[in-house]
Amino acid sequence: MSDDGSSKVLRKIWNACVPGKVMICAWRAYMNALPTHGNLVRRMVAVENVCGICGGYGESTEHVLRDCSLAKTVWFGGLGIRVDDGNHT
Ligand SMILES: [Zn+2]
Repeated sequence: MSDDGSSKVLRKIWNACVPGKVMICAWRAYMNALPTHGNLVRRMVAVENVCGICGGYGESTEHVLRDCSLAKTVWFGGLGIRVDDGNHT
């Protein structure tokens, strides 16, 4: 692998001070290797590409980690993370 942005991200993942299972999950998410329904369908596994939590179509890595209602609850409810959308008046 070349020393581009991708390898910098991977180095950050592997050098993070987090438990190993978190590193593995982050690496799998970055490599688009999480067993989402979208990835299973891509690998010819007979599942419907629907989120098991919210029922939304297209369970991708982005959906699971960012767009799903459960992910939003975790990020914005439980962890107290706020995003400045620039629309404050
Ligand atoms: Zn969902």
